[in-house]
Amino acid sequence: MMSSESTNLEQFLAEKYPGLTAERNKGGAIIIRGVTCSEGKWRRLKLYLPHHPALDGFQLYVQEQLEYKCYTASNLRVQTDWVLEDLLSHLPQLLPATESISTTNNAAQRSNIYADILALHKPQEYRLQMDAGYSRIRFSQFPDFEQHYLELEVPTMRLLEHSLPDCVQLGEMLAKSARTLSDVLNLFRKLLEDLRPFYDNFMDIDELCHVLQPSPITTKHNTRVFPLKDRVYLKITIVDPFASTTSMALKIIGPTDEVARLRDVLSDGLGNWDAELDMHKNLLRIFDLCYFPMPDWNETDKPEEEQEKHCNICFVYRLDSGEVPIVSCDNPRCVLLCHAACLDEWFKTLLDGKTYLDVSFGLCPYCKSRLSTSFAALLDAA
Ligand SMILES: [Zn+2]
Ligand SMILES: [Zn+2]
Repeated sequence: MMSSESTNLEQFLAEKYPGLTAERNKGGAIIIRGVTCSEGKWRRLKLYLPHHPALDGFQLYVQEQLEYKCYTASNLRVQTDWVLEDLLSHLPQLLPATESISTTNNAAQRSNIYADILALHKPQEYRLQMDAGYSRIRFSQFPDFEQHYLELEVPTMRLLEHSLPDCVQLGEMLAKSARTLSDVLNLFRKLLEDLRPFYDNFMDIDELCHVLQPSPITTKHNTRVFPLKDRVYLKITIVDPFASTTSMALKIIGPTDEVARLRDVLSDGLGNWDAELDMHKNLLRIFDLCYFPMPDWNETDKPEEEQEKHCNICFVYRLDSGEVPIVSCDNPRCVLLCHAACLDEWFKTLLDGKTYLDVSFGLCPYCKSRLSTSFAALLDAA
């Protein structure tokens, strides 16, 4: 939109019809699209004006259910001296009453949301995108939180997708305290700030530990599983991302004796947690390590499937759930390595009717020595 006539049109739309935008196509026609509200009813439309500012030859498409219905001078009673403004202002009288988008009963929400959207267009602060039908709005690329996103249905403001941890009840929080789209965005950005320690704590873990689960790691995950030493793994869960250190749960997975010894080391160490240091450094201190085991550098060029040992039950490395085989038995000479889920299934079929914790005291399907009970930690939801 370069000419002053186009600028005037944009200004006119921004002031009177903030849900509509205008562009000029290759053939020189003006195309206006978006949503407009009149008498409490929202309409989604596309308007082609080949001879703007005159209305001659216009085509107006108005959304009716899932389809657009086309109106031209032949089926819409427009006056010959009308210009765009007249057409838009007379739409409620011209169009059949049924063609509007149903919205909620919140009057404030109805009248403000598209004006809100325009006001929230701040490309230097974050990215705002809308789909072609103007029914979804997506915020993304927040400074310091580049991977985060928030997607809502408009004009209902129903939450569609977001990047916060699954355990954060964002939908409920928004319903409780966000009345306008700006409220929603402000609350989301405040939550990102509140979650900074949560993400910071995982940052070094993700970089300096060989995180096996989840894979791939996203902003939604609140657990990490990584090797602590040979056959022994650490599972960290931050139960409440808003209280990252105090709600941290640590589980050691591996052969029974080793787990018992390290559990003592851990509980002693947790008493001396240094709040000045991040989670990674505290864990190194607790386990008296300089670094956590990382994959053999010679092996890192190979694909994951070749580097890693397959599950001895299902013969797969990574399951669809993201789980990798890390459960071993207490016999140091046994080569068994299984997915917790596979072992769980195996026990269930083998020892009919026994409860879960009982069966986890069972024997290794390979060497018949005692199986470590710590694998139960991998099956917990938390
Ligand atoms: Zn398996
Ligand atoms: Zn075994």
